[in-house]
Amino acid sequence: MMLTVAAAYTAVLQTVRDMGTEVLPFEAATGRVLREPVRADRPFPPFDRVTMDGIAILYDSFARGQQIFGVEDIQAAGAPRLQLSNTANCIEVMTGAILPELTDTVIPYEQLEASDHGGFRRFAIAGDVTLGQNVHRKGSDVAEDTVLLSPGMLIGPAEAGVLATVGKTQVQVARLPRVAVIATGDELVPVAATPEEHQVRISNIYSLMASLQQCGITAVYIHLSDEEAVMRERLEPLLQETDVWISSGAVSAGKFDHLPAVLQRLGMQQIFHKVQQRPGKPFLFGTFTGGPVVFALPGNPVSGFMCFYRYVLPWLKAAMGAQETAPAYAVLQEKVTFNPSLEYYLPVKLQSLPDGTTAAVPQPYHGSGDLASLLSADAFMALPQDKHVFEKGSCYPVWKFR
Ligand code: AMP
Ligand code: MG
Repeated sequence: MMLTVAAAYTAVLQTVRDMGTEVLPFEAATGRVLREPVRADRPFPPFDRVTMDGIAILYDSFARGQQIFGVEDIQAAGAPRLQLSNTANCIEVMTGAILPELTDTVIPYEQLEASDHGGFRRFAIAGDVTLGQNVHRKGSDVAEDTVLLSPGMLIGPAEAGVLATVGKTQVQVARLPRVAVIATGDELVPVAATPEEHQVRISNIYSLMASLQQCGITAVYIHLSDEEAVMRERLEPLLQETDVWISSGAVSAGKFDHLPAVLQRLGMQQIFHKVQQRPGKPFLFGTFTGGPVVFALPGNPVSGFMCFYRYVLPWLKAAMGAQETAPAYAVLQEKVTFNPSLEYYLPVKLQSLPDGTTAAVPQPYHGSGDLASLLSADAFMALPQDKHVFEKGSCYPVWKFR
């Protein structure tokens, strides 16, 4: 029985296995999935931090009407904490310095007038002052020991800065799945070759490998001819030391579509073959016990592309323990009619509108062989199977690939 997209997706996610973890220097962890909580080793900020260059005073003195303050000392950033000895005086303070003891308020130079008084520097305050101004209070952002980063977060630029500031030099991240990408087809020639009229260059697997690269995964790849014996012989060694196979082609009804039989002979348990979707109907999925999970994607480029973002990528993310991302939705900008009883994945361009919604503009699309149609699109809009007419202005999920 041909599965619906929802059932196929559930079946795919049921096979998710934990890839385990590895420890990396934090500088090398960008783009990876964090697998441990990271706590604040100190309060944020770690001390009462001066936020403007100027003078630090005790507000009480100002409140009692004092306008002129003699300078006792200078508190530089990076210097240990000074103490004001006479609260009628001030200490010059620099941005990033610790606030001197017995002071609580910082007045910036812009609000001061300097003068010399018998070799002593003094500052007259112009304008109003509020208690505690220009002081970033210790712990006011984050208390010590707060969990700042949780397992499953993707480490990006903001996370890199936080890892650095808490001194987390070594960080536990998800191990990357070992992926093999498999091209099939006697019509395919290497990219550097000049194809004969009846040949095409291998392209799908480069899309797949580029998508994988965006998750930090470098895949190995092979190209299989359409001969059953050769396919088997070349696939068998890949059973070891790979977690995931992603193949392209040879899963439809053609005379040379041997891949389902070859996989079965190698011992793969087929979980499903064919899904009620367009493109990508011939998608086959299975697992080897103690071996790789197999995403056997159809050869048509748009089909493979759609299946990668709809099934493979969510599997990879789940296997790395990544936190789930909320589904995205967009508003269809044209009426679309689609008669087959299949879930329709329509290539669309996404545009943010001033009202905060996202518009989905269908792109010229000539079917699953139309690789170039993906150039102007950003996502597939998932149009549900139980309808045939999709009105302009209606809202549906989108699976983004850009
Ligand atoms: P298949 O699923 O093997 O019948 O292939 C469907 C279509 O996709 C055929 O036109 C193939 O030539 C094409 N195709 C399959 N694999 C690739 C590939 N790796 N690169 C480019 N085109 C491919
Ligand atoms: Mg083929």
